[in-house]
Amino acid sequence: MKLFGVLGDPVSHSLSPVMHNAAFKALGMDCEYHAFRVSADALHDAIHGAYALGFGGLNLTIPLKEKALRVVKPAELAKQIGAVNTVDFKKGIVGYNTDGTGAKMALVGSGIEVRGKNVLLLGAGGAARAIAFQLAADGASVTIANRTEERAVALAKEVGGIGKARGVGLDELKNLVRNCDILINSTSAGMFPNISETIVTSDMMHSSLAVFDIVYNPVNTRLLKEARKAGAKTIDGVMMLVYQGAEAFRIWTGTSPPVEIMEKAVRERLV
Ligand code: NAP
Repeated sequence: MKLFGVLGDPVSHSLSPVMHNAAFKALGMDCEYHAFRVSADALHDAIHGAYALGFGGLNLTIPLKEKALRVVKPAELAKQIGAVNTVDFKKGIVGYNTDGTGAKMALVGSGIEVRGKNVLLLGAGGAARAIAFQLAADGASVTIANRTEERAVALAKEVGGIGKARGVGLDELKNLVRNCDILINSTSAGMFPNISETIVTSDMMHSSLAVFDIVYNPVNTRLLKEARKAGAKTIDGVMMLVYQGAEAFRIWTGTSPPVEIMEKAVRERLV
């Protein structure tokens, strides 16, 4: 039996155990995935303990992702993003960040190519960092728009080292939405309990837009409802959650992840 886990604090709400255990079961793998409450102070011991115990791999969530950079050997992208969400033990203790890949795969899985596209990314927090680095590396032109403009400008400066990026505030939103192909909300606007909140409304959107909201609580956010009203294509936050997990599964096991089964397990838990 191989053990896997997610470390965080709090962690009991995590959907990762249900998602990965469904995948292991579907593939008949002798593996189990559990959630472990670990404080930031105990992170070093917890990761090294799991390594010593022969764990197959770990995920990390709030508040451990940034601190983990000092505990593991980070892969290049995780270093650039400044956060680790996946730890693999096959070649020592190596840290990856699969959030950006998860977002990219959520788009690709919905038939949306990112190369050469104008992406308007709302937010400049932890999730936005991962998405901005990934999409810029994949050849998108990324406009980062954030309530606190300086954070957007600072992030765009970093991302500019690997691709096309600029940072702005939220003042010119109407024009920015009109000129983009893909709109991604990576802010917490619209997340429970503020479910009537949205930064962009249907009157600002066009029908050839793809609107991706990474918020998954609720799944059907106000932004996605606005997008449907405008005739735009929609992608919900469950897909990013599933694909970031699928990428971690691939890193740990070298096996192609059963994405549809993982998605079903998560959606059943969210209704
Ligand atoms: P974070 O680091 O705290 O960043 C929050 C961002 O949202 C900041 O840019 C903040 O702007 C902005 N923001 C918050 N409330 C706002 C409002 N009312 N109006 C405008 N901007 C607002 O959070 P995070 O970790 O990046 O997570 C953001 C959201 O993504 C959460 O809902 C989280 O659950 C979700 N998420 C989903 C996935 C997935 O797999 N689907 C993965 C990660 C995160 P300021 O800089 O101005 O404060």
